[in-house]
Amino acid sequence: MKIFHTDDQFGFASVTEEINEAVLKNDQPAAAAKINELMVKEKNITLNIAITGESGAGKSTFVNALRGLCDDDEGAAPTGVTESSMDPKPHFHPDYPNVILWDLPGIGTLKYPADSYLRYVGFEKYDFFIIIAAARFKENDVKLAQEIQRMKKKFYFVRSKIDNDINAERRKRDFSAERTLTEIRDDCVKGEGLGIESPQVFLVSSFELHLYHFSLLHETLDRDLPAHKRDALLCATPNINPEIIRKKKQALKSKIKYWATLSAAGAAVPVPGLSNVVDDVLLVGVVTDYVHAFGLDIPSLKRLSARTGVPYADLCAVIISPLAAANITTELLLKVIAQLESVAALIAAEKVFRWIPFIGIPIAMGLSSTKTYKILNLILDKLTEDAQRVFKKASAGLI
Ligand code: GDP
Repeated sequence: MKIFHTDDQFGFASVTEEINEAVLKNDQPAAAAKINELMVKEKNITLNIAITGESGAGKSTFVNALRGLCDDDEGAAPTGVTESSMDPKPHFHPDYPNVILWDLPGIGTLKYPADSYLRYVGFEKYDFFIIIAAARFKENDVKLAQEIQRMKKKFYFVRSKIDNDINAERRKRDFSAERTLTEIRDDCVKGEGLGIESPQVFLVSSFELHLYHFSLLHETLDRDLPAHKRDALLCATPNINPEIIRKKKQALKSKIKYWATLSAAGAAVPVPGLSNVVDDVLLVGVVTDYVHAFGLDIPSLKRLSARTGVPYADLCAVIISPLAAANITTELLLKVIAQLESVAALIAAEKVFRWIPFIGIPIAMGLSSTKTYKILNLILDKLTEDAQRVFKKASAGLI
């Protein structure tokens, strides 16, 4: 029977295999070492996203929106600037610096043919390309897309500033959002789309990522990316709908078994207090990651407030968990854990059992693992509910 599963092919499977083996052999130190290796590997996964398009197409605004930043936030890419950089410019995600959005000069700016352009921008390092246009895609865009395809990389067309089109159309008496979107989509690939088999075009407003095709774009990227890169994309994606929050929860939940095994390994060492220290450090780290993934840390909530116009205090008012919008310390976490009734008995039992000769340590290990498993699941549930409530509150400011 397998205890751990993973579906990627980039070295994770073999580490996971070794974790399975160590757990089955009851070799806790080996399992813990391998889990740490897996976690380090995961933290080092990079996602390089290339954003290209003519100057003024909306690249910088899109790069900021994807990172949950307002255009005037610290670290935001400057927008509305007319002169274009000749070099690819990296923009790091504020919470996930391993997710890098590259603002590439438009192919027209460099005046290179598509193959030279791709070599110039170092096409190998990008996981995929997003080609942005504020109107119809031009010959250059299509040539570039064909060349990206030839280089065995993926590209997606994004037609930006859809809010402007919709607002203009809204004035008409027979306005239909659906029909307008279909017409824009058909129009922006007219003629040029013929050179590419079923081009994927997504209609997006960087000011309103929760509307139009951005969710569809995310789903498509998620499907196309290799398994080991999906979580990086998911955690770095703003909470644009309840489904994203649910997916984040699933991804975080799938790792709880690893944390529980690490906790058991800590309990295996017969040093007074060590199990608690291991658990405290581990839990503070994991819970801090949860809070960041859901955008419930103070800087993320402040940025959300600035973006949506919903006051920061109103966003905080719907939060129930003391771990959100807070500085997560061991003391705070212990206070929260002390209030989890179903966990109190496990903590007390672990303390008693670990000093019983021979049988004590194995029982303490089991209890420690179960305790960590329960604590993380309960906290994850609460933070997910908070994230959903904050999303709902923030949406009110966007509608
Ligand atoms: P870049 O030169 O491709 O980086 O384009 P920018 O991101 O600087 O955008 C050019 C202008 O278009 C700026 O004034 C933006 O505010 C505006 N803009 C960009 N994206 C959108 C959008 O989705 N909707 C609207 N209405 N304006 C946008």
